[in-house]
Amino acid sequence: MGADKSASGDTDRGMGRRALLVGGTAAVVGTAVLARDRLGRLWWRVPGISKPREEGAVDYGGAHWVAASEANWRRADRPDDYRIDMVIVHVTQGSFKSAVRAFQDPSHQAAAHYIVGQDGRVTQMIRELDVAFHAGNRAYNERSVGIEHEGFVDRPQDFTDAMYTASARLTAGICARYGIPVDREHVIGHVEVPGTDHTDPGPHWDWDRYMELVRRAATSAPSTGPSGGPSPTAPGATPSGTGV
Ligand SMILES: [Zn+2]
Repeated sequence: MGADKSASGDTDRGMGRRALLVGGTAAVVGTAVLARDRLGRLWWRVPGISKPREEGAVDYGGAHWVAASEANWRRADRPDDYRIDMVIVHVTQGSFKSAVRAFQDPSHQAAAHYIVGQDGRVTQMIRELDVAFHAGNRAYNERSVGIEHEGFVDRPQDFTDAMYTASARLTAGICARYGIPVDREHVIGHVEVPGTDHTDPGPHWDWDRYMELVRRAATSAPSTGPSGGPSPTAPGATPSGTGV
């Protein structure tokens, strides 16, 4: 699960050294001038920065929307403020229901964008344009979409055909929307995030099978994007290394 309570980086709402584009003018906002917290709350309200949002909208046509607690993600404007170049695979270590409940709980301090059930159902809880706290690594959260899978890492029978197929379609759509290469550098497990102490998706997750399903889905199904369609980004983006 994206239980990232120990990840203090996730909750840092400061803009850091980022340059913020306001009305076409690049303004480098210094953290020494403005309180980071205050800035973090206000910057997205500047007209023209935030993309229009529709209540209940999903980024993947096959998903059902259930909102996560706002304490478990950070409002953003991806891929314009942060480039999305990664999908991170998780396993819930619990039931589908318990994962939904955890992500709705403001004290959980973690949530992923999606949860895929063993029956193949897909629930979206955070918009892809926002930063979900799922990787336990701020830079990786900002650049990735997180997908939880219902089950336990030590129970291979939890990873059903329906789950692999549904998740692969979802990942193929994400890769298509943001120009993410379908390979193991860009579709990774939580365990591969630098600094994490999480082991998911674990040794029973069949990466060869999964990546083959993603590749197959990528060539057969177009991505869906109800909030204005696919967002073009630079294709072939490569990760910058450790990210932190
Ligand atoms: Zn995880």
